[in-house]
Amino acid sequence: MNHFELRDGVLYAEDVPLPYIAAEVGTPVYVYSRATLVRHARVFREALSGLNKPHIAFAVKSNPNLAVLKVLQKEGFGADVVSGGELVRALAADMAPQDIVFSGVGKTRAELVQGLEADIGQFNLESEEEGHELSAIAAAQGKVARCALRVNPDVDARTHEKISTGKAENKFGVPMSRAGEIYAALAALPGLDMRGIAVHIGSQLSSLEPLETAFEKVGALIAELRSAGLKVTHADLGGGLGVPYKADEVMPTPADYGAMVARVTKHWDVALSFEPGRVIAGNAGVLLTRVIRVKRSSNASPFVVVDAAMNDLARPAMYGAWHDIDAVVPNGARHIAHVVGPICETGDTFAMNREMDALQAGDLAVFRTAGAYGATMASSYNSRGFVPEVLVDGDRFAVVADRLPAADIMAAERVPDWL
Ligand SMILES: *Cc1c(COP(=O)(O)O)cnc(C)c1O
Repeated sequence: MNHFELRDGVLYAEDVPLPYIAAEVGTPVYVYSRATLVRHARVFREALSGLNKPHIAFAVKSNPNLAVLKVLQKEGFGADVVSGGELVRALAADMAPQDIVFSGVGKTRAELVQGLEADIGQFNLESEEEGHELSAIAAAQGKVARCALRVNPDVDARTHEKISTGKAENKFGVPMSRAGEIYAALAALPGLDMRGIAVHIGSQLSSLEPLETAFEKVGALIAELRSAGLKVTHADLGGGLGVPYKADEVMPTPADYGAMVARVTKHWDVALSFEPGRVIAGNAGVLLTRVIRVKRSSNASPFVVVDAAMNDLARPAMYGAWHDIDAVVPNGARHIAHVVGPICETGDTFAMNREMDALQAGDLAVFRTAGAYGATMASSYNSRGFVPEVLVDGDRFAVVADRLPAADIMAAERVPDWL
């Protein structure tokens, strides 16, 4: 459910017609709906209402825009960050340090220090080596870092290989077989408060089964750790719930997920936390674009060349991902077309032989479900500058990220005087 709907033949974001935003801000532009973000946040929280005070940390990497973080902070969400830059953003959005969890396989020494100085709620350690390094830093500063050990449960999340994170061959977490030994070793170090286990097996999961398998392994590990006399008070179950990218796609609901979690974790006796990203932000955003021209080369499908490109929305080029593409003012006609951006590589293709609303030069269209892993993955490839972002709230909207023109990016470059 989202708030991008046709009204009298025009696509609106909440109560704002998208052509109005295109006229004011230009295209391409990401448009987010506050009401949709809030709705998703509440549905997710409600789905976990059977648990004892679950902690929800929004995966900042899915949509790090400050205004989006602020909407979720007001909903009581914390943040799951994976870099020092994301930590700065979470704090800037007034997220309480204790509500911030720091994940990531390659936290640098500087980032570990940054997390300690901010006194964040939890470090999710991804290796024994990282634990040793954090222990040394914390002990030297007379601090105690609250930590969970991220395990790699070796389950196939059955998602795209580039966003699977819980298989033995993936770089994330420590192997289950060594988790007990590593946890014990880290728990004995100064400066660390080893308090639990973390797991995250991948993103865009279309089935709860791999999650359930992973959680059961975590439950068994918790029991094993406790029987070895180790303290376990927390478990972080990560994110990963998929969203429908096609109108007819069926995904597990947050309610199904919550019921499964409640069943599997019933006897764990720990404080649970969650790191949803896509399921909160995905359907809360669209990428609004304008057709530059329609190119007909042969009898095959025409190329609809739009002003958004793979640098603005990387998922199709990167993962072969599907985004529904709809006209903003559909005239009822349909056609079969290729939809491409202007970038000089063939990877800059959003759809091939797609049956969709007919589009002509000058028409506006949207890529749906672009609120997660959209703007956050943008680059300035082909010197196109960075795409702006807009947040809609009822009948008002605000530009929440300026368009960063190519000239501004070039201004950060220098030609050395020896050239
Ligand atoms: C990316 C990520 C998430 C969020 O995944 P979604 O599929 O967007 O819910 C959560 N936790 C960690 C550690 C991640 O890397």
